[in-house]
Order: sequence, then C-alpha cells, then structure tokens
Amino acid sequence: SGLTLPDLLRRTAEKYPDRVAMSFIGANTTYGQLYRDAQRFAAALHKMGVRPGDRVSIMLPNTPQFVTSFYGTLLAGAVAVNTSPMYTPSELEHQLNDSGSETLVILDTFYPRYEEIRARVPVKRTLVTGVQDALPFPKNLLYPIKARREGTWVKVPFEERVLSYPKVLASQVAAAAPSVSISPDDVALLQYTGGTTGVPKGAMLTHGNLVSNCEQARMWMSDLRDGQEVTLAAIPFFHVYGMTVAMNLSVLTGATLALVPNPRDIKMVLSQITSSGATLFPGVPTLYNAINNHPDTPKHDLTSIRACISGSAPLLLETSRRFREITGGANLVEGYGLTEASPCTHTNPIFGEQREGSIGVPFPGVDSIVVNDDGQIVAPGEVGELWIAGPMIMKGYWQRPDETAKTLREAHGRTWLMTGDMATMDADGYFRIVDRKKDLIIAGGYNIYPREVEEALMSHPAVLEAAAVGLPDTYRGESVHAVVALKPGANATEAEIIAHCKGLLSAYKVPRSVEFRDELPKTAAMKILRRQLAQEARDAQK
Ligand code: ATP
Repeated sequence: SGLTLPDLLRRTAEKYPDRVAMSFIGANTTYGQLYRDAQRFAAALHKMGVRPGDRVSIMLPNTPQFVTSFYGTLLAGAVAVNTSPMYTPSELEHQLNDSGSETLVILDTFYPRYEEIRARVPVKRTLVTGVQDALPFPKNLLYPIKARREGTWVKVPFEERVLSYPKVLASQVAAAAPSVSISPDDVALLQYTGGTTGVPKGAMLTHGNLVSNCEQARMWMSDLRDGQEVTLAAIPFFHVYGMTVAMNLSVLTGATLALVPNPRDIKMVLSQITSSGATLFPGVPTLYNAINNHPDTPKHDLTSIRACISGSAPLLLETSRRFREITGGANLVEGYGLTEASPCTHTNPIFGEQREGSIGVPFPGVDSIVVNDDGQIVAPGEVGELWIAGPMIMKGYWQRPDETAKTLREAHGRTWLMTGDMATMDADGYFRIVDRKKDLIIAGGYNIYPREVEEALMSHPAVLEAAAVGLPDTYRGESVHAVVALKPGANATEAEIIAHCKGLLSAYKVPRSVEFRDELPKTAAMKILRRQLAQEARDAQK
C-alpha cells in the first residue's frame, strides 16, 4: 500500500481523534493525544541527537509508554529494537551491542539489570519511565533510580545522563515531529529471534513488511468494525506477534488497546477483559489454556469477546472448545507465523471451515509451498519444509549476511523464507505443521515429532502442560522423555501417564520416563522452552 507505520497512526488520529487508543489501569489516552505524544517523543529524540537509521532499544512491558516510544522512534526516522523485559544482563548486553543501540528506553524496575552491563554497551542516552508515568497522578519528574554497585544499593547520579520520560515529553510540549522522510522500504524494527534455537539475530522488518501484515490481517478479519473494537493487549508488544496483531492492527483500525502489562497474571487479564469490554483477544495457547483452568474464571463475564486468533504454537481442540464455552461462543481460530514474516502467514478462515490440527490457509497475498531437501515441491499430504513468500517477509538479518543466505532463498521466480518447520498441505490447500525440523527425536531409527507425543500427554485429564524431548539412549540413539505440569489439585503417576500414552501412540513414541514440574519454563512470548527442558533432562541424566 506504500504506507509507513506513522502514516497509520496519523490517519487514525485524524479520523478518530477522540477515540480511546489505550486504556491502562483506569487511565485513558485518545488517538489524538497518542499522536501528539509520539511527535513530542520524536522531537525529543531528534534534539538529543538521534538520527534516521539509528537504533533505539525499547525495554518496556505493554504500557502507554511502549506505544508512544515505538511510534515516536519511527517518527524520528529511527529503528526500534524490541527488547524483552525478561532478558538477563548478559542477553541484554548481547542485544545492545549487536544492534549498536545508542538510545535505550527502559522501565525503572528493569534498570538494575542494565546497570550491571552499562559500561560494556554503546548506549549514550537512557530514558527511564515508571508505570506511574502513565497514570494521572502528580509526578515526580526525576527518578531516584537505584542500582547495585560493589554490593550495595546506591542512587544513580544524574550526570550519568539518565533522563526521565515525563521530563523528556514535558520539555517538548509544543514540538512537532522532526521532518525526516521515511519510506516503506526503510527498516522500522529489529526483532531478535533465535532464543530457543541458537544465537539471537535481529530480523530486519521494514515499514512495508509490518504495514502489509496488518493489512493482510485486516482483510482476513472481514467483519472487523473500524473505530469500534476493543483489543485485549495481553500478548507482549516486544514480540512481533503482539506488535502486529494487537498493537499495529489496532492503530490501523482505530481499535482501543486494553493494555495488560503482565499476561502471566491471569487475574489481571480477566479483570481487564471485563472492565474494558474487550471484543478481540489475540493470544497464545498457553494463555487460553491458563484462563480455561483458572479458579477465578467462572466469576467473570467474558461474553464481550467475539474473535481470537491463536498463534505461536499448536492449539489443541480441547483448548478452543473450552474457551468458546466460557466466552459464550467467541470464535477462536488457529494461525501460524514467525518473526521473519512480521509474523502472520496462515490462519484458519474466521467464517469458513476451521480444520482441527491445521494452521489453515495462507493469508491474502501470501504464497506458501512445501518442499523436499532439493527445494522441489512435494505432493499434497507429503511432509516437507514450509517455504513462504509475500510482502511481509523480512529484508534479512541485521549484519548477518551468512544467516540471511541460509534463510532466504531465490527459487521458482520468488524470494522464499525457509521456515525450518516441517509441514504438509492437504489436497484443498489447508496446511498442517508437523513440527520443527530441529526438535525431531530419532529413536531406534524412527522419526518422532514431539508434538504428537505432547498431544497424547495433554489428552490425559490431569495434565495441564506437557513437553516431549529426546534423551540420549545407548540402545535406541534417543528415547522420548516427557515433562508435565498437572492441573491444580489433580493427581497422576508416571505409570498412569505412560499407560495413557500407550493407548494412543505406537510403542516407539511412548515416553520412557515422565518428570513432574509445577510449571513448564516458557519464553517471554509464553512458548514452552522445549530445548531448555531437553538440556536440563540431559544434565540430570549425567
Ligand atoms: P526464538 O527464535 O525467539 O527462540 P521461536 O523460534 O519460537 O523463538 P518465533 O518466530 O517466535 O521463533 O516463532 C515461530 C515458530 O513458532 C514457527 O517457526 C513454528 O515453529 C512455531 N509456530 C508458530 N505458530 C504455530 C502453530 N500454529 N502451530 C505450530 N507451531 C507454530
């Protein structure tokens, strides 16, 4: 469409200036105000020396400050770098250095982690904000930021150029955004990926990529009512899924963002749904599953929710059926995507046939093929790697031409993103994800996709979460090990779970051992960390 992300905000602010753009713990910001704040933020960045193409790292949960700083960064012509609030100091150090960020916007409570590595990163300007900045209380403009130095907590001196966010905005009351020209081909976002698969690398997503993916989602959701929806923004904006499907899609369509800073706090999620009257709820299976099983859920009226897209991991039929029940019929459909594709590429039709176990059909404007190791398209029903082409595919990885060459491939007259996921296509064009190429377990020469084992585990009535991983086995090469968390108050023994799987799976796929945990470890995007569990199980075996 030739638009940039700031174009989307400007258009919506012109069309719906008084519509609430964000609601956060009772404080509302209109689209008119959001656009003005983003311009002021851009002007402040410019005045501090931020120039087009410079990287600005944003380490914030879902708060009004996230939306303002993200759009402000783009209005200054700079590149936003999404930074997970869950990073350890060394992960943060890697990302700040790799992206070459000279500017960091950070929540006060995360500051101590940054402080530990401050001397080893290129950051020159740190803008600190606290949750209270988004609330209509009198504010203390200068933060007493504390950090641990040589074992004791000390106040960080102002000379270290720590700027308070409200002060930055207040200093630019009348300012308009700097006049920089931004084109759809410019990189808007560096989104780091690879935490579960290896060295983190920054996917370069352009304005055109991100706007295209919003427009594709808009086309797919044909009954979306402009200027009337309320989006429950529980999935984090610092991950591209929340950024596109919750934040940018809402900005494109004038929806209100009902912000949830911590999606793990299910009580907060439930009360935000009821108080905001959320109509759209993009999420991930672990989140819907947690709501389905939370003791407070029956106390809340969730019937305002009418449409949900679930991405990032397989959605079990049981999860969507139960969620439909508790919301009085919300349409919960499974989709698929990945960071390098901005991220959505496939979904089940929201009104047409939704097929169980399928990620549905390609989004409008997406080409999708399943290929063998030689890059040849395989017949329907056959397993191969999923390749995708379309306007939302990344430009490449930031400063990693070798990784880019391994991931983007010219073939059949197009540039394809090789997803690393094994998939099949049904004869009528519905796709199914078999599993990740890298998570394959090979036992006694047989290929086992963990997902199939996990589905068997999850069908046990006591199981809340499950992961299947491969453990070294001198006889079979690898054997299947299961890690499960049980539902609150439920009981099951290792022998019972193995017996349950025996009834559902061929012998070689049945877990040889089951480990119980209170909760499975997850990424910031709430995805179960299979590879970490595999490593821990291997270490425990030694
Ligand atoms: P990271 O790379 O940051 O460690 P990641 O590998 O999970 O995380 P993402 O880009 O966040 O990277 O996630 C994309 C992957 O998630 C896909 O390649 C696929 O394996 C998985 N995925 C997404 N949606 C689905 C789905 N509906 N069913 C099965 N798998 C899915």
